[in-house]
Amino acid sequence: MIELQQAQEIVLSNITQLPITIVPLAECDGLLTATEIKSAESIPPFDNTAVDGFALNFDAVASGKREFEIVGTIAAGDPGDIPLEPSTTVRIMTGAPLPAGADCVLMVEDSKVSDRSGKTYLSFDRTLSKLENVRGTGSDIRKGQLLFPANTQLFPGHLGVLASLGIHELSVFKRPRVGVISTGSELSNDSGPLLPGQIRDSNRPTLMGLVKEVGATPVDLGTVEDDPSKLRESFLQAAATCDVVLSSGGVSVGDFDYTKQILDDLSHGTMSWMQIAIKPAKPFAFGLIGSTPIFGLPGNPVSSAVSFELLARPAIKKMMGHLGVFRTPILAIADADLRRRADDKLHFLRVTAKIESDGRIHVEPQPGQSSHLLYSMSNSNALAIVPNGQGYKVGDEVETLLLRNL
Ligand code: AMP
Ligand code: MG
Repeated sequence: MIELQQAQEIVLSNITQLPITIVPLAECDGLLTATEIKSAESIPPFDNTAVDGFALNFDAVASGKREFEIVGTIAAGDPGDIPLEPSTTVRIMTGAPLPAGADCVLMVEDSKVSDRSGKTYLSFDRTLSKLENVRGTGSDIRKGQLLFPANTQLFPGHLGVLASLGIHELSVFKRPRVGVISTGSELSNDSGPLLPGQIRDSNRPTLMGLVKEVGATPVDLGTVEDDPSKLRESFLQAAATCDVVLSSGGVSVGDFDYTKQILDDLSHGTMSWMQIAIKPAKPFAFGLIGSTPIFGLPGNPVSSAVSFELLARPAIKKMMGHLGVFRTPILAIADADLRRRADDKLHFLRVTAKIESDGRIHVEPQPGQSSHLLYSMSNSNALAIVPNGQGYKVGDEVETLLLRNL
């Protein structure tokens, strides 16, 4: 058996960032910037009003003047070329540019408007501060400012910033196409009754969902029987059309595990067949077909998901341009005993994590921890890391990987 860290090093030392491509902004969500991004413009691009109201000259208001003649209206989108004089004001709508001579805005809620001798006047009975309700040029983003360093993952908020600067396409690391194959002659794909000995393929939807969660594109490559020529054809096709391939099943030592033979052959003997000192997910294989990384994940549903989390996910993140690829464990409080036997392995227990009233994250183990128990996986959102030994007692602090935001 090898340590988990050693297996992770074998994988990551064979993984490189995918090529840089230019992608339309609308498709950049979740991708990472390939270069730093500086702002070529100021945001807001001009001084404008934060409220509907009246644009005023601060010095005039400060001198005690409370009545101004209304000489026009500036809507959002207008150029705003109605210069103020000390005795005049203009109606102004949120987002509209401040006219020359204005440096504060009175909210419409504080105003009174009246007509006299064919003219319209604003009056009010409060003071204003300089720049009140004014959104200054560049108060959000300054021209020339470094916005995002290279290797920044883009979330919807980033896309808004880039769009506000007129950036419509971007240099990013390619989004990995991750092929997902299930192997095993027992696997059925349709919703009809199962034949004797068959089970339904549950790994593929799970792994494809996990791939999507990382921000990569899952490619459904179906199920393949334990048949050497079919396996060979599937893996060749997968390696040719995807940036990385995840296969589940056939990596342990069963009689019909032809996967080993085929992958050894296609990878020209570069596959590493590992027994990792973890539970679940002990068997694991990794290698390259051509330059395409191939992950041989165990077949048991829980093992394949845990193997993905610990070995494939960091690799996909590296391909995407992430600099940090591992989740940072948090310290949670065990709300029940997390017992185990000493077996020289690092255990990953499926737990349900919750924030409790003390503000801390607490974890409770799922009742079933065997690697075939699918249902307990659906009810857990975290993995408690339990080192070799007897486990933890209720109240102990436990290193935990949060698989989802709470
Ligand atoms: P294997 O690693 O191929 O020996 O499979 C280990 C166990 O996982 C067996 O009980 C398989 O039937 C089961 N298994 C393998 N692949 C899948 C899958 N795609 N969906 C559900 N169970 C699977
Ligand atoms: Mg199998």
